[in-house]
Amino acid sequence: MLPPIANRFVAGETAAAAFDHARSMNDDGIGVLLNLLGEHYDDPEDVEADVAAYHTLIEDVASTDLDACVSIKPSQIGLDVSEDLFAEHYRSIVAHANDHDVFVWCDMEDADTTDATLDTFVDVARDHPWTVGQCLQSNLKRTRDDLERVADVPGAIRIVKGAYDEPESIAYTEKSRVNEAYRDDITFLFEHRDRGVAVGSHDPEMVSLARRLGEEHGTDYEIQMLMGVREDAQRDLAAQGVDVQQYAPYGRKWLSYFYRRVRERKGNALFALRAILGR
Ligand code: FAD
Repeated sequence: MLPPIANRFVAGETAAAAFDHARSMNDDGIGVLLNLLGEHYDDPEDVEADVAAYHTLIEDVASTDLDACVSIKPSQIGLDVSEDLFAEHYRSIVAHANDHDVFVWCDMEDADTTDATLDTFVDVARDHPWTVGQCLQSNLKRTRDDLERVADVPGAIRIVKGAYDEPESIAYTEKSRVNEAYRDDITFLFEHRDRGVAVGSHDPEMVSLARRLGEEHGTDYEIQMLMGVREDAQRDLAAQGVDVQQYAPYGRKWLSYFYRRVRERKGNALFALRAILGR
């Protein structure tokens, strides 16, 4: 069973627990992206197991009235094994989701995977319009070109600052420069798309920018945040009529995800310490 310390960031070890979490978020007007935890599989058997789990998850989501969609990771569905295997699974998951009227989001991992992930997204989105969304990262210098490339692709784009340490040759490494690129990319998306814009950020400045641009351009957009991070803000935004979607991971492989959340921010580390000490 999931220990209480991880409950803040992880929705449970099973899909059933994640569905309970989704229902309680839906009650507060917040939609949920369900992500089965798992990444960097080099054994095809691990890949096949999670792909099968996603097919079942799609059927299970479709059989409920939940405001929920599915969120996959490239290295979970085969990218560390081969690009062909990854493309085959990305395609099969989105086709299955399309048959069941369920939406699929795909994360973006380190910069070595950007080409394979984006190429596959573009193909799959053209075959299954408005069934899939892809994350892009503003810390990468290439991202403006990538945004131009996908401007007319019928799939959603989630723009984030970027979570991977990348070399200076291909990425902005100073926080202020990443923020500048992020503002530019958010603005570009609102100026060039009238739907399918997602801003994945907890940064109040970026959320305000998205709201202002949304009003200005009439764009259909959503704000995405992680489970356990600024949940009060998530509720406030939803209460004010903003489309808020929460990324909620679940599954037995929660430990490394939990450590990542704890390491990235002092407040989260203090939370973990207090939970360990029982205070
Ligand atoms: P930061 O730059 O970390 O913080 C800016 C400000 O936001 C802070 O000063 C503070 O005011 C506020 N803030 C941030 N965190 C907190 C907190 N815990 N409590 C209170 N205030 C806070 N990255 C990828 O590389 N690939 C992905 O596929 C990907 N998917 C993501 C999906 C979602 C839904 C989200 C929310 C993020 C995703 N990320 C992904 C991570 C992203 O790239 C950033 O690393 C992460 O979101 C931190 O940047 P930030 O914009 O939230 O704000």
